[in-house]
Amino acid sequence: MTLELLKELSEIDGTPGFEKEVRDVMKREFNKVADEITFDKLGSVIGILNGDVSGPRIMITGHMDETGFMVNDITNDGFIKFQVNGGFWSQVLLSQKVTITTREGKKYTGVIGSKPPHILSPEDKSKPFDIKDMFIDIGVYSKEEAVSLGIRTGDMITPKTDFEVLGNKDFVLGKAWDCRIGCAALIEIMNRLKGTKIPNTLYAVGTVMEEVGCRGAQVSAYKIKPDIGIAIDVGIGNDIPSGDGLHCKLGEGPQILIYDSGTVGHRYLRELLESICDEKKIKYQSAILKGGATDAKSISLANDGTPSLSICLPARYIHSHTSIINLKDFEATVEMLVELIKRLDSKTVQKLTYEY
Ligand SMILES: [Zn+2]
Repeated sequence: MTLELLKELSEIDGTPGFEKEVRDVMKREFNKVADEITFDKLGSVIGILNGDVSGPRIMITGHMDETGFMVNDITNDGFIKFQVNGGFWSQVLLSQKVTITTREGKKYTGVIGSKPPHILSPEDKSKPFDIKDMFIDIGVYSKEEAVSLGIRTGDMITPKTDFEVLGNKDFVLGKAWDCRIGCAALIEIMNRLKGTKIPNTLYAVGTVMEEVGCRGAQVSAYKIKPDIGIAIDVGIGNDIPSGDGLHCKLGEGPQILIYDSGTVGHRYLRELLESICDEKKIKYQSAILKGGATDAKSISLANDGTPSLSICLPARYIHSHTSIINLKDFEATVEMLVELIKRLDSKTVQKLTYEY
């Protein structure tokens, strides 16, 4: 995985239902390595590696969408009112730069306007500012001028953030690591397994609309009918001054989720993966997440059920303009899943699914 590709994946824009730019990159990369590419009708892209076609079907996902916004209204003075598409806490938004992408693909920079302290009352300062009162300034005189640029209700709005390598080169900053780093992992896993005779068929899926309720993975799973499901996503890195640092430190390996609000990680699949990590000395963190779910939720409940797990790379400050991940966690994620996929033959999958 090159830094150029990570930068590209982080900087392209794609909110729930607006994943085209990401899908195009995933198609381009899958085309270099997959035996086949297919799609479901909601827009998820599926790269297939045909190993033993009589073996189990393994589905791994990374969601292509990022949290963002859409144009809701344009004021007479040309300011953009917006609707959240995904989830944000209002306090991370003021004074941040955004990109508005029009239907024709034109891009305009704007800033979410904020008042300077000079004109804020003590009461204003004491409470969070509501998103419904915020607006985006794109630097025009009027609504007519905004419309003449091609901006319309429903247009995608995304955080505008440059990718950067930080002080220690293991740490990289960017927008949309949730979950473009999962998309990157899919590409890298396919690259490493290409040319190996895997005892299964691998379906690597860039899913749509995870941030609005794990929707894309649900229909992909009905199409693929997997025997095993793995969702690669991000975990909430809280190794920060105000955090407790428990179970989610950057650089200590991805989280293998035991429990989140959408899935109880399949016990026997989890134990197999943990034993592989122990054997290969791959770092991981065992975590219980009280809030939040991943695509594993949708995969696990599709068809007649799918043993599923979430693998979450620690990321600090997700669902904001700037999040930080650690490349060692990326490497550990890829290594553990490559090794797991190599071992998921018919006998192993039969055993962990039925014989306990
Ligand atoms: Zn995510």
